[in-house]
Amino acid sequence: MKILIVEDELKTGEYLRQGLREAGFTVDLAQDGQEGFYLALEGMYDLLILDVMLPTMDGWQVLTQLRLRHKTMPTLFLTARDQVEDRVKGLELGADDYLVKPFSFAELLARVRTILRRGRSQQETTTLQIAGLELDLLRRRVCREGKRITLTAKEFGLLELLMRRQGEVLPRSLIASQVWDMNFDSDTNVIDVAVRRLRVKIDDGFEPKLIHTVRGMGYVLEVPETDA
Ligand code: CA
Repeated sequence: MKILIVEDELKTGEYLRQGLREAGFTVDLAQDGQEGFYLALEGMYDLLILDVMLPTMDGWQVLTQLRLRHKTMPTLFLTARDQVEDRVKGLELGADDYLVKPFSFAELLARVRTILRRGRSQQETTTLQIAGLELDLLRRRVCREGKRITLTAKEFGLLELLMRRQGEVLPRSLIASQVWDMNFDSDTNVIDVAVRRLRVKIDDGFEPKLIHTVRGMGYVLEVPETDA
């Protein structure tokens, strides 16, 4: 799941980005309102974390402009000002929640999960399934045939991507940008190593094998077609 943070205080922004990444999310960070607005307009984000006091466009303006363009992603406001009128204003503009600085990261994470759960219960399921493999997006849990499998945050992100796009061959460059937030460097075998580890956890001791290498192209997750 992809989150955009718009926060001009670099320390706070970096801290949130780091924490959310460790919690398994893909995170982008914008440092002023306008940059945040354009990113939110173009990118497919599941959640927006929006500071109120920002250079170029404030948080209210960013949300107003996004809603005018029918961007309905859930939004959590961050602000230093604990005033009732701000709270009301944010909620009137269609914000989903409101967090007053300073806050603990644990509290932010809990709010983020609640908002995402709420949004998803209306739209789509919170679990992905294929051939006895089950991935719970909210509890960040993976099971195969009922057995719990422990994954690192990166492995979870990788598996989520492969399951969401099952049957599609995903090039390494796409996996790198979606899961590692980096541009593909042909010298690195970090993706191959991660896929190998993931395959051991997901496929060893189970049938059918789900993760497949497509030589020269990338990786695909699917139930292989049986020869008739
Ligand atoms: Ca600010």
